[in-house]
Amino acid sequence: MPKKSSTPLPLKRFAVVGTGIQGTQIAMIAARAGYEVAVYDPRPGAFRQTFEKLRADLKAKKVKPLIPWNRWEECARKVRHLRDLDKAVARAELVLEAVPENLELKKEVWREIAAKAPPEAILATNSSSIPVSRLEGESGRPERVLNIHFYFPMQGVTMVDVMGGSRTLPEVLETGIAWVRSIGFVPLTVKKELLGFCFNRVWRAVKREVLFMWGNGYVDFQDIDRAWMIFTGMKEGPFALMDKVGLDVIWDIEMVYYNESKDPKDHPPQALKEMIARGELGVKSGKGFYTYPDPAFLRPDFIR
Ligand code: NAD
Repeated sequence: MPKKSSTPLPLKRFAVVGTGIQGTQIAMIAARAGYEVAVYDPRPGAFRQTFEKLRADLKAKKVKPLIPWNRWEECARKVRHLRDLDKAVARAELVLEAVPENLELKKEVWREIAAKAPPEAILATNSSSIPVSRLEGESGRPERVLNIHFYFPMQGVTMVDVMGGSRTLPEVLETGIAWVRSIGFVPLTVKKELLGFCFNRVWRAVKREVLFMWGNGYVDFQDIDRAWMIFTGMKEGPFALMDKVGLDVIWDIEMVYYNESKDPKDHPPQALKEMIARGELGVKSGKGFYTYPDPAFLRPDFIR
């Protein structure tokens, strides 16, 4: 587990807008690193509800979280929840928006934040697919905006994409990178705007190719996973990973890339759509490419 970083804090006051699954984790991690953290969510009790849900989910999955269990309450206590957006962002130096993945909603929330946060505050989005250049027009400070994109922070995936918009100043990008380091995470700097940022793009290239091979009947998905496991030494292959993410979520993400390029090669295969229609969504529905809770790839003879 990466330890709390000893890197100096590039700023002091951090705010999170939207404390669902991502915002709650990020707020706790920033509080642990020593930031003054304020959060806002219009859903009453959002932070606490998500905190409990997250704790139950990770315990059920027997995940060892990034923040040890005995420090969860302490980190949560350090996070100030405010009923008004004004108060949450009034003194912030960095505001991270983590509301649902909907461009119109994000634009509306950015307009509100822009009106209430200090003019010098950096505004960032945790969006998985929206480049910040599509929000910078609402920010009132297009030279002080960033994509700061987390993966599964509490599960120990400690990398974060950092990318600027069309007018982001170099020192703002540097502050974003320093902030990521200061919470003990590894920044992945994206130097020019790119859909999918850094690692999502790598993962996506793998997904596109393996879905093509399986969906067009060239290779069985289990052989692809076997090859991946033998080659990389990992405990699961791309199809097992897609089951974990959820096949409906995979479909939606692949469609974002397809809609951007309109290249037929980017379209996910029909066979995946049929699985989703049958309710085979992966781990969450008990069946995807594999059957859970005892998927074939976990059996000792799978790669023998
Ligand atoms: P979520 O649905 O769990 O949480 C969103 C939160 O935003 C909710 O608590 C909701 O009440 C709140 N909200 C709604 N409207 C709001 C408003 N007007 N002002 C403030 N808060 C508002 O979503 P999530 O999974 O945490 O995703 C949030 C963002 O993070 C999305 O952009 C998503 O693409 C991105 N992201 C998600 C993941 C993931 O694995 N879930 C990973 C990386 C990035």
